[in-house]
Formats: sequence, structure tokens, C-alpha cells
Amino acid sequence: MFSYSNITLQSFRTSWMPASISAAMLRLDLLHPEISGNKWFKLKHNLEAAKAAGKDTIVTFGGAYSNHIAATAVACNIAGLKSVGIIRGERAPVLSHTLIQAQENGMHLIFVPRTDYHSKADTTRITGLTDNYYVIPEGGHNALGALGCEEILSLFPTGDFTHILCATGTGTTLAGLINSALPQQHVMGVAVLKGAQYLEKEITDLLKPTASATWELLHDYHGGGYAKISPGLIDFMNHLYAETAIPTDIIYTGKLVMAFREMLQQQAFPAGSKVLLIHTGGLQGNLSQTPGVLSF
Ligand SMILES: *Cc1c(COP(=O)(O)O)cnc(C)c1O
Repeated sequence: MFSYSNITLQSFRTSWMPASISAAMLRLDLLHPEISGNKWFKLKHNLEAAKAAGKDTIVTFGGAYSNHIAATAVACNIAGLKSVGIIRGERAPVLSHTLIQAQENGMHLIFVPRTDYHSKADTTRITGLTDNYYVIPEGGHNALGALGCEEILSLFPTGDFTHILCATGTGTTLAGLINSALPQQHVMGVAVLKGAQYLEKEITDLLKPTASATWELLHDYHGGGYAKISPGLIDFMNHLYAETAIPTDIIYTGKLVMAFREMLQQQAFPAGSKVLLIHTGGLQGNLSQTPGVLSF
């Protein structure tokens, strides 16, 4: 639907990286001003499948700050599909910028109490729609989502990297990376949710028999839990931007790069390692912060 020509593979070096390690950031955040990062890759085949099945509406799920909701609204708008967002929690008196933007892109929002939110199977009752709709799970977590993410490593020549690092929410992106990485590459997911041990199985379920790379999920770098934002994180993100001109987001990619620094301190990478970090986007989420807190 649009070109990937804005995406770059940016080599970077910081004051905290040892000389024996090199790193590059795959800047998926530059893909599109509104559908940034991995969300597009997870949506792409789902939107195609919806159209192929003759459906005119996408129904999906998320919270008030969800990057997935933001991306789905814009992608559906561009693709000429209607969209419905089932939003977790009561409608707040003032909507988040994420939800306002989703509405501006034509998404119909339906607020569902947290207690009800998990009865997701009941989309017909919740939406009042008949069957002319296609459901994309929360976070784009399905096999077509993972399939789209297989494309990420082929945007640039990435075969020389020894390690691939990515922030992990549902694990869909990580599964696509593992499915497409080379046998000698090691794929590492940094879980942003605390106690997300269930993810190993969910990721394994999305792997193809042909997947040959080694992989692991790291559970110690969530920084206190999902969307927990410490002054240390903000400070780190501002310093990173000053050193590399790479903007990161508070939920995923800031924690990813912070995890990279901690792993380097623990000498987790052998000398000579070439580390590829995936910038999965999510910068729209930074708008929830007080202006001026972040320097970019
Ligand atoms: C949604 C999101 C992720 C998590 O992707 P999963 O495929 O759910 O693991 C990572 N980074 C950003 C910026 C995101 O918005």
C-alpha cells in the first residue's frame, strides 16, 4: 500500500558500548508517520485476507494507548476498510490522543468494561455487527501476523548479524523474526510484560517447522512491568537520542535498548558480535508523557 523507502538500517555506537561489539538499528519507526513499526507487518496479510473473504469491516481490540489500535485505524482507512475498535475499560471523559486519532481515521470505538473485555469471542454481541467482519486478535497476534513479520529481515541485507534483538509484547513479531532468521543467528526477545512466561508457548505455536535460528525470551528487562516508566528510563532515552539521534518509545523500544546496555554490562555478547536491534516504532505512545520530559 505504501513504499518502505523511508526505513533505514542505522549503524550506531554509544558511550556504553565496548569497541568489540557493533550494533545497528532497523528503523521500522520511519515506515509511516502513523502506521509505524511492526504493526504494519502484522496487519498486512490480515487486511488482504479480509478483503479476499469479501469482508468490509475489521474488528480488533486494545487499550486506550494501543499502538495496534492506532495502526489498524490508519491502515484500514488507507485500505478502504471500515474498522471497529473494542477498547478495554470505561470511556474516559477525555479520550487519549491514540483514540482521538483512531476516531479521526474512521474507527468506531466501543468501550468494554475490563471484566467483560476477555469475552472477546462474543464480538457479534459487542459490536452488533452481522457476519461481514474480520476479527484481528489484540496486538495482531495470529499466524498471518507472524507471516508478515518474516519480511522484516529481508528489507536490508541482515545475514551478517550474529544477534537480533526485539521488544516483545505478544511475541508475534519475534515469531516472524525467528521464522526468517538464519540458522547461525540468535534471536532474543525482550519481554516488556512482567511474568510473561506463557509467551514461550505462544511463540512456539507460531513457529514453522523450517525455523532454524536459536532464540530465547528475556524476562528480566521489563523495568518493573508493562508501561512502568521510571525516571531512569526517560533519562536513558534522552541520552540515547543525544548520542545516536534514535528516538525510542517508553513502552517497548526504550526498554529494548536499555536491556541491550544491561546485557553488555553482563558481557552477554562475545567479542565480535554484530547486534541488530529492531526499532518496532510505537513513538505515538510518547504523546502520553508531559511535554518536555523527552527531549525529542
Ligand atoms: C506492539 C509493539 C511491540 C510488540 O510486538 P509483538 O509482536 O506483540 O511482540 C513491540 N514494539 C512496539 C513499538 C509495539 O508497538
